[in-house]
Amino acid sequence: MAVDSPLSSPLGPPACEKDAKALQFIEEMTRNAESVQQRVLAEILSRNAQTEYLTRFQLNGATDRETFKSKLPVITYEDLQPEIHRIANGDRSAILSAHPISEFLTSSGTSAGERKPMPTIKEELDRRQLLYSLLMPVMNLYVAGLDKGKGLYLLFVKSEIRTPGGLLARPVLTSYYKSDHFKTRPYDPYNVYTSPNEAILCPDSFQSMYTQMLCGLLDRHQVLRLGAVFASGLLRAIRFLQLNWRQLAHDMETGSLNSKITDPSLRECIVKTLKPNPELAQFVRHECSKDDWEGIIVRIWPNTKYLDVIVTGAMAQYIPTLDYYSGGLPLACTMYASSECYFGLNLNLMCKPSEVSYTIMPNMAYFEFLPHEPNLDSTGFDFTHELPPKLVDLVDVEVGKEYELVITTYAGLCRYRVGDILRVTGFHNSAPQFHFIRRKNVLLSIDSDKTDEAELQTAVENASHLLREHNASVVEYTSHADTKTIPGHYVVYWELLVKDSTNSPDNDTLEQCCLAMEESLNSVYRQGRVADNSIGPLEIRVVKNGTFEKWITQYQEEHPLINTRFQGVLVSPQSWSCWILGWYLHILAQLCHIGPQKEVNEMGIYK
Ligand code: AMP
Repeated sequence: MAVDSPLSSPLGPPACEKDAKALQFIEEMTRNAESVQQRVLAEILSRNAQTEYLTRFQLNGATDRETFKSKLPVITYEDLQPEIHRIANGDRSAILSAHPISEFLTSSGTSAGERKPMPTIKEELDRRQLLYSLLMPVMNLYVAGLDKGKGLYLLFVKSEIRTPGGLLARPVLTSYYKSDHFKTRPYDPYNVYTSPNEAILCPDSFQSMYTQMLCGLLDRHQVLRLGAVFASGLLRAIRFLQLNWRQLAHDMETGSLNSKITDPSLRECIVKTLKPNPELAQFVRHECSKDDWEGIIVRIWPNTKYLDVIVTGAMAQYIPTLDYYSGGLPLACTMYASSECYFGLNLNLMCKPSEVSYTIMPNMAYFEFLPHEPNLDSTGFDFTHELPPKLVDLVDVEVGKEYELVITTYAGLCRYRVGDILRVTGFHNSAPQFHFIRRKNVLLSIDSDKTDEAELQTAVENASHLLREHNASVVEYTSHADTKTIPGHYVVYWELLVKDSTNSPDNDTLEQCCLAMEESLNSVYRQGRVADNSIGPLEIRVVKNGTFEKWITQYQEEHPLINTRFQGVLVSPQSWSCWILGWYLHILAQLCHIGPQKEVNEMGIYK
């Protein structure tokens, strides 16, 4: 029930005193966005004044915006690589940050095919925790009674490594779930999960998913919200249920746990709560054995009020499938964040996915925005007027315009280009709200993988070497992320030049080409394929000779005002025309499929 508090918020009536404080904090930060930003910049520059990086640019202790902007360059990850290597190799001097680097957070964005390790400091965890603590107070403005039940959240940790210098390197969420902030969080009736920590923290993805699903089924009447970080993760859970409901029902019926759950602490924790429940087992069998899984989420978890998943950006491709399985439950995208920094939150949680805007929280970092306009090159240089890039401050962005996000963080990133393109949709007080448009240079994405044009080109080139013994080559190609399968997979369309029709590439060769392409793709893709089971096997579809030419001609006829240009012998896959062509080809049935076989294992992975 809403409290009538002196802290009452313009965002709406808070559900409790704690929420009132959180909403008040959002109001304070967004009303004073400009002064908060000045303070954040001054704090970062003064505490890091003696670092090697700031000394190099002769900031000489200045903490004002003008000096900062005039002396420090706008950079990308590649510019910082030498410093990052030194830190990874054990150099503990104050290179980027005056505070000791506590660990590396491995971004799903890659550099030279590998995850980008981003140095972070201990106190960043507090900042992330602070942003998390604002999410439920905002959600409580829209959905009442969330303290009367639980959230079924499918959360996972991924593998971690140590750098040569002994620092841990792991994804940001793994770092968060393994922190005391998460593990020993105080009880909060609005934030009770069905998954025990032991299940979330189990490094084996099958055991973790199995037990989280089992706990979610045992608590099915109490579940009020269902979530995963990204939409792809929630769909993987549905697929997991499709493949494992018989065993799950058996465990419920007998009260005994699947012998594949071998992690001792996880086993102990689940066995304690698992009691024979034949009625529930019968219900699960009845629902899951139906051919039609439409609305399965609300059939199994009838009290679910919304799905908590990110469906903006690359995840928008999963909205129709989520709608199908959930019977159209609201989709709440709560926050916008990255390994480098958490950025902000969605204050209008029940809006349509296409209308989601994230309000940047000015206390998280110092934010600048590089205008993203047709007359600017990739560095932001205005080649029409020969002007260097002019970055805009947080409160000065203009509604309707697109920008690339540039951040300066407490952990020592200075004027760092994140690579996300955002459009300003409005303001909450004086803090701007952004629609996430896309990540730059991403051609294909299924889960957290981000494959760019150059990576795909290299993969096609490497794979096409295998065609030599058939005296064949790839003359045109394009690609498409097929999310109709769960997990989704890359489809690459090839048009071949076969010189000797009696020796054209057979299925085995094309299977080898699929593998060669996968081996050439970046490490996030490969981890998704092998360790996380979040990406299905790549598929090559060979199209009939002349298909590209035919469809390009047809497209040009239908769109005479659009200039279709192609580069080189291989069609540039990133060109919009080829992207559209990818869709055309996807629909066409004149294809030879090479790729996923039909049999899958219990994780939904093609055997
Ligand atoms: P990572 O570096 O692996 O932590 O991934 C961070 C990136 O994920 C961001 O820079 C965005 O490109 C993307 N991302 C994070 N949150 C969202 C969101 N709410 N909507 C769309 N994309 C997001």
